[in-house]
Amino acid sequence: MVKQPFEADTGRVLNIVINSLYSDKDIFLRELISNSSDAIDKRRFERLSSKSSTDEKIDYEIKIAVSSKENTISISDVGIGMDKDDLVNSLGTIAKSGTTEFLAKLEAAKGEDKSKSLNLIGQFGVGFYAAFMVSESVEVISKKDGSNKAFSWSSDGVTGFEIKDSSRDNVGTTVKLHLKKSEKDYTKREKLVEIVKKYSDHIQFPIIFLDGKSKDKDTLNDASAIWMKSKSDITDEQYNEFFSQSGGGFGQPLITLHNKAEGMISYTSLLFIPEMKPFDLFHVDRSPKVKLYANRVFITDTLDNVLPRWLRFMNGVLDTSDLNLNVSREMLQHSPALKRISKALKKKIINELKRLKDKDIDKFNKFWNEFGAVFKEGIYEDTDHKTDILKLSKFKSSNSEDEIYLSDYVEGMHKKQENIFYIAVDNIDQAMNSPHLEAFKSKKIDVLFLTDPIDTFWLSTQDNYDGKKFVSITQGSIDLSNFDEKKDDKITKEDVSKKFKDLTEGIKKSLGDNVTDVKISDKLIDSACCLVAPDSGMDVQMEKIMKMQNKDFKGMPRILEVNPNHSLMNHMSKILKSNQNEFDDLSKILLDQARLLEGHLPNDVSFYCKKINELITSKV
Ligand code: ADP
Ligand code: MG
Repeated sequence: MVKQPFEADTGRVLNIVINSLYSDKDIFLRELISNSSDAIDKRRFERLSSKSSTDEKIDYEIKIAVSSKENTISISDVGIGMDKDDLVNSLGTIAKSGTTEFLAKLEAAKGEDKSKSLNLIGQFGVGFYAAFMVSESVEVISKKDGSNKAFSWSSDGVTGFEIKDSSRDNVGTTVKLHLKKSEKDYTKREKLVEIVKKYSDHIQFPIIFLDGKSKDKDTLNDASAIWMKSKSDITDEQYNEFFSQSGGGFGQPLITLHNKAEGMISYTSLLFIPEMKPFDLFHVDRSPKVKLYANRVFITDTLDNVLPRWLRFMNGVLDTSDLNLNVSREMLQHSPALKRISKALKKKIINELKRLKDKDIDKFNKFWNEFGAVFKEGIYEDTDHKTDILKLSKFKSSNSEDEIYLSDYVEGMHKKQENIFYIAVDNIDQAMNSPHLEAFKSKKIDVLFLTDPIDTFWLSTQDNYDGKKFVSITQGSIDLSNFDEKKDDKITKEDVSKKFKDLTEGIKKSLGDNVTDVKISDKLIDSACCLVAPDSGMDVQMEKIMKMQNKDFKGMPRILEVNPNHSLMNHMSKILKSNQNEFDDLSKILLDQARLLEGHLPNDVSFYCKKINELITSKV
């Protein structure tokens, strides 16, 4: 068979993996062992769950054979194996969706802590390529379960790969590395023991060393599932290793939750919250990465009902004896046992976070900074825990430097204030500069800044906290006169509105269908105008999100509020009767300004620029 070139991106990634991770070479062995372990997990599950399987006894082991004469090391397993297509797809290409992110992250991690780049390898499904850090060439010989043909894949890691028919007695895979001359150390037992102890001790299958000399079985690892041990027998390092070995993510675990439950339902769970965001946290298909085991037999890691999506930053293991191996995926999705476990796990996680909030605020804050935006999705999605999550949630606000809890907000409320005021925007700057905020700022009434897209969604299902309603300051009419210390009622809003009636009606006529109404505002101090959503309408930010999701979505026209104390209004009142053309133009500019202040483009950008230029030049 002719040699196939690598896909463009594969070649690029390969080059980076091989060259930029140079000082972390040892981990090639961790990656290959973990692939073998995954493959054995899959085979064992197939055999246990399919009725047709033979009773042939298999020793589930991983073997490392070395030859110092040939300068080779071979990692062999009795796993599921790969056929020709698998070899091309799994080893000839890289998890495509992640390639670009991988390159970007690697670029970012350069020069930083090496352990970051090290973790990247396993996370992006490029672990196998680590073999090329120490090898001149790599050969993979594999026979897939259920097939009687074997194939070999070989490559120098630079130009491409070659696939040939091959032979092999048993089902499984052997990865043979032809080591670089400088890497002869990897044929030495001491070196391999050191690496296996460090990275792969907890791999639940025995890792056996073969050098062609000794006759006794030489097992290098502890070979027990870490989650089955009792907490007191596990060191922090061992937890950390397990975390990174099982594709946990960058860095170390921030929170480790190891629980055993016996009784009605028995299970063991070892779950982690990582200290850093996984790269795909906001991908649509990202889900929590929990490996499901039944009595230490791996079942699947793609089930999405073990933990909900709002906990998708978590990973780890769930092992239970309450599941039957012979069940279909369908049945797993609906398994009452799993449902109960899932409920219990959610509760444990929430309780741990509550505990941290009270007892270890630094840790809680770290968690919140990394995952708060995802965690909050639970307010929208989880009826059982929405209140718990709301209580743990933190927000920026106009009166506070740091993020505050809703309980803090309520505590600081004005004595006449009944509602919780918020503004939903893209970012803090936009909130701070919003004309809507001006009067609230001057009256020192605190306003929450909701800057995550999910905020507008959960608000649609949760309209209050502790009985206090959430009220958007960009929507409807909020009467702020209540908050004035002493009311000098001489000039009411009605009086002002009456005084400016001609002006507001004139602007409304100029703007036509672009607005539903033009009103006098009592919320504006510096700005000339702002747009307000009608009482019954959709919140401005929600409308913006709907527009992004659906190009055809037309928002509702809104109410333009103008500042009667602004000099522009004075000017416009003056020309209302005398210069209709300029009045029309200024009305349009006014509306465009209100849009700009919300982070939107003017309706007619070229008109806006032309007009502004005209105004500037007319003054010089
Ligand atoms: P990952 O393990 O994260 O998927 P790797 O680059 O380590 O990424 O491996 C790529 C793929 O190659 C694996 O997902 C698996 O399908 C296949 N593979 C690698 N090693 C083996 C093996 N020993 N037995 C069976 N399949 C393997
Ligand atoms: Mg792997």
